[in-house]
Amino acid sequence: MCKTCPPHAPVCPSHGHAGLGLPQGVSRRSALQGLALAGSLLGLSLPALAKPVKLPAPGPRDTCPVCGMFVAPYPYWVATVLWRDGKVVHFDGAKDFFKYLFDLKKYEPGRQRAEIQAMGVTDYYTTERIDALGAFYVVGSDVLGPMGHELVPLDTEAEAREFVADHKGKRILRFAEVTPALPGALDQGKFQ
Ligand SMILES: [Zn+2]
Repeated sequence: MCKTCPPHAPVCPSHGHAGLGLPQGVSRRSALQGLALAGSLLGLSLPALAKPVKLPAPGPRDTCPVCGMFVAPYPYWVATVLWRDGKVVHFDGAKDFFKYLFDLKKYEPGRQRAEIQAMGVTDYYTTERIDALGAFYVVGSDVLGPMGHELVPLDTEAEAREFVADHKGKRILRFAEVTPALPGALDQGKFQ
């Protein structure tokens, strides 16, 4: 490859051969927008990483609506849903958070998922609450939560890969890849 050819130049100024640049009239920005559009058409519109999210912490009397356990004793696992009307629901782990989301009819009759303002899960390494939509979830690892096998949340793909290597994880899933059947399968030690 020509070393003097600047990146993105349509024609190499030193040698006159075709450069590595984008077609004329296509700015880098619009090319990137095109890539983003292609991504969203493929259903890949999830954030590339999970940003920290500010949510209320569970109080000593808050219980998980799925299993009934007190949540406050498990600060490293807490997941939280904040509804637009201010209602806050805490879980003792991402697994029960997903069970709840997949069965709102049972747990929150009359409420729709679109009425949720924010959803947070706890990052395994930083122990900060991060946006559940952007998180990477590892299943099948040797790290168990308060209710057994868990979806272990990490904020970036790199962290998720590191966790998989350190803890024998079997799969890394994005939010949209968690199926309704998975949380129940984890209870039985299955990871699909
Ligand atoms: Zn629970």
